[in-house]
Amino acid sequence: MSLTLEEALASLRVLALPMRTTFRSLDIRETALFKGENGWGEFAPFVEYSDQESLQWLESAIEAADKALSPALRESIPINATVPASNDEAEIEQILSWYPGVDTAKIKVGTGIKEDLARIAAVRKHLPKAKIRIDVNGSWSVKEALSNIIAIYEVTGDLLEYVEQPVASLDELKQLKEGMSVDVKIAGDEVLRKAKDPFAISLDGAIDILMLKVSPLGGIKRAMDLASHHKLPVVISSALESAIGISYGLALAARVPNLDYACGLGTSALFNQDVSDIPIVNGAIKATNYPIDLDRVERYELKGERLEWWRNRISRVWNLRRPA
Ligand SMILES: [Mg+2]
Repeated sequence: MSLTLEEALASLRVLALPMRTTFRSLDIRETALFKGENGWGEFAPFVEYSDQESLQWLESAIEAADKALSPALRESIPINATVPASNDEAEIEQILSWYPGVDTAKIKVGTGIKEDLARIAAVRKHLPKAKIRIDVNGSWSVKEALSNIIAIYEVTGDLLEYVEQPVASLDELKQLKEGMSVDVKIAGDEVLRKAKDPFAISLDGAIDILMLKVSPLGGIKRAMDLASHHKLPVVISSALESAIGISYGLALAARVPNLDYACGLGTSALFNQDVSDIPIVNGAIKATNYPIDLDRVERYELKGERLEWWRNRISRVWNLRRPA
């Protein structure tokens, strides 16, 4: 059956989840949930995203609510710790404690190489054997990337697992790859999920690893199609969704043919409270159906003007959908 806009709006719950730490400059994460035959789906494009950019997020939410999942290939999903762009050592220590047993830390960088190196050192002080991933969100120039990656590699050595989106554009990624003198893998995130048509771009000579985020890429089927189209190893990561969207990311991680890397799906830990508890045990999360806690939904639910804003947004984005 196909979920209709009216059905989605009838079950709509809009939430404002308070963060435990500032992430992506956010202290509150607004998101929308609606229900279909298969369960809840999450529509969570950040509030500044355009309707057009939000379309794939809606497709993912509809797919989650509507479609039954294929059988899983695995249940235990290894995850990384996610460290925001903070240089408060006590805060970094506390954040790392939310991720028991992980062997990989993903660190947001790009706030200046001195600060970045200090942040990496603070993480390594507590997790000296952990693999380090850094996420630049495209904020370096090619020249900066060339020197910053060397500076970081000098400290981490081969524990530097990859650098995510060091520069913004596809052309810059290719230039960087050509100029690199150290053997460090490059992962692409925005280059895929912000592309007008992510099937139309060639990533040859640009990146080594593909970030797959189920919501911005339009759901499990489309994310898996993108992975097989580009023939690159994948890292599954979240888009800072609530437990509903995270469960869907876990469902993707449980179904990709090869899962060679820890996933960035432990971001529930960055919330004060979530609509379900997703425990991290020995650096892994179980991919399973986490029951939604409706008392918590009620506690963090938005009414009035914000609810209206999300209703209107969903209606507008729904109208951008192409007939199947
Ligand atoms: Mg990223």
